[in-house]
Amino acid sequence: MKHLRFDHTFIDKLPADPVTHSVRRQVVEACYSFVSPKTTAAPKLLIHSPEVAELLDLSDKDCHSDLFTQVFSGNALLDDMKPYAMCYGGHQFGNWAGQLGDGRAIVLGDVINNKGERWTLQLKGAGETPYSRSADGLAVLRSSIREFLCSEAMFHLGVPTTRALSLCATGDQVWRDMFYDGHPEYEHGAVVCRVAPSFLRFGSFEIFAARNDLKTLKTLLDFTIRTYFPHLIQDDNINTDTYTRWFAEVCDTTKTMIIHWQRVGFVHGVMNTDNMSIHGLTIDYGPYGWLEDYNPDWTPNTTDATNHRYAFGKQAHIAHWNLMKLAQAIAPLFSDTTPLQDTLNAYAPAYKKAWQTMMQQKLGLNTFDEALAEQLMNNLERIETDMTIFFRKLADISAQNTIEQCIQTISPAFYGDDWEVYASNIWKDWFNDYLKHIQSDNNANRKQAMNLVNPKYVLRNYLAQLAIDKADSGDVFMLHELFEVLKKPYAEQPEFEDKYAQKRPDWAKEKAGCSMLSCSS
Ligand code: AMP
Ligand code: MG
Repeated sequence: MKHLRFDHTFIDKLPADPVTHSVRRQVVEACYSFVSPKTTAAPKLLIHSPEVAELLDLSDKDCHSDLFTQVFSGNALLDDMKPYAMCYGGHQFGNWAGQLGDGRAIVLGDVINNKGERWTLQLKGAGETPYSRSADGLAVLRSSIREFLCSEAMFHLGVPTTRALSLCATGDQVWRDMFYDGHPEYEHGAVVCRVAPSFLRFGSFEIFAARNDLKTLKTLLDFTIRTYFPHLIQDDNINTDTYTRWFAEVCDTTKTMIIHWQRVGFVHGVMNTDNMSIHGLTIDYGPYGWLEDYNPDWTPNTTDATNHRYAFGKQAHIAHWNLMKLAQAIAPLFSDTTPLQDTLNAYAPAYKKAWQTMMQQKLGLNTFDEALAEQLMNNLERIETDMTIFFRKLADISAQNTIEQCIQTISPAFYGDDWEVYASNIWKDWFNDYLKHIQSDNNANRKQAMNLVNPKYVLRNYLAQLAIDKADSGDVFMLHELFEVLKKPYAEQPEFEDKYAQKRPDWAKEKAGCSMLSCSS
């Protein structure tokens, strides 16, 4: 642990809040405030990710040391750590929300690993900061398990994401009204240490534009490009062309992230601009969910139950809207904003093309067929069909199959008992066309290729909830087992099929935590 090398570029190059106590306030002309994590009653390491530890050059012995638990629960600092909370704003549910900031996240520092890579370590749930507003700066076990498991599951699915190093129970009790319905209860407190190249968000730039603080805006943007996007700099000179290239890269990585979400059936749930990473990483795991039956209008977030703004099928459009807000934030640094507008306009066609390629791969076809894809989406919506199981089973179909055999093969994906009545009608035509494609493609590698993009194991909402219920009562076996299974989402792992690759059971359909989640965490 003591060998970790910290780099202080962020705090050395960017303006700091001169006030060093954590009284809630508006912090102006500063990118961060120095803070101290809260000490906890009885910290205990519940789980850690050896893969993330490796990124940080931490050995197994390091991870099992008392110092590791103390540091990553917020109880101790290593010699060279100078913890801080970041200042940012954001658009929440379409409205400008002013200053938000790290209300319960504290950066411990940037580690430079043996390969020269920079990784920022951030504790989530480690106590109050100037940005905590009316809240306590803490996190509960259920939401921390959800963040830990999902970050790592997403990484192993190949979806760009922030990572999770560790999950510690704090031994403290946290007072939470889980459904904002006037029934608060004490819950177990927890701290996750998450890891990313940086935790800068769209809102990190919006806050300075909103305050017309163009000096800090420019300082932050130049710093961001120099530190995290040096490949965009030509002749050691940063100008508006560099800014445009930077914005184009953010558009591109954001687009790629959304394509992956659509591929695996992930719904973020709170795509506010403060929850959009400038690195195109999935960030801030709150009331997210996984599609069970394919329903583009589904959102797990109860706060969004009326408008479905952040539903599965709207994520690409919302990402575009959020990118527009980022463009507007940096626009004051341009005398002519045409290049920004042009870059933004390129998003929709680029997204469409990438979506088609992704869908072609999911279907295991040599070419994309728009009518086939469209009809598929209609079919999936018409009969309650499990998205993950459907695509996984589709790979088992071969060119020699009859239409009846095809329908039989995908039938485990249907929810409900009456599917046979409808299935024969709506799927017959579709399989007729699909079989023609795979006959003429004659691709011997089809099944193998499909199984690399269509996961068998995802963090189904009810599985996360079962692991949470067990851990809440002190049993972390399922948390560990699920973590291991989700590291190989594309492998068959037949021994885990009955337990972790099944449709949502009926009891989970309307159960809190399984189908509906609030932002309370
Ligand atoms: P989120 O919806 O989780 O992205 O959070 C929106 C804002 O609320 C961010 O500024 C968070 O830091 C802040 N926040 C969320 N939960 C808490 C909490 N328990 N204590 C302090 N700030 C919080
Ligand atoms: Mg957030």
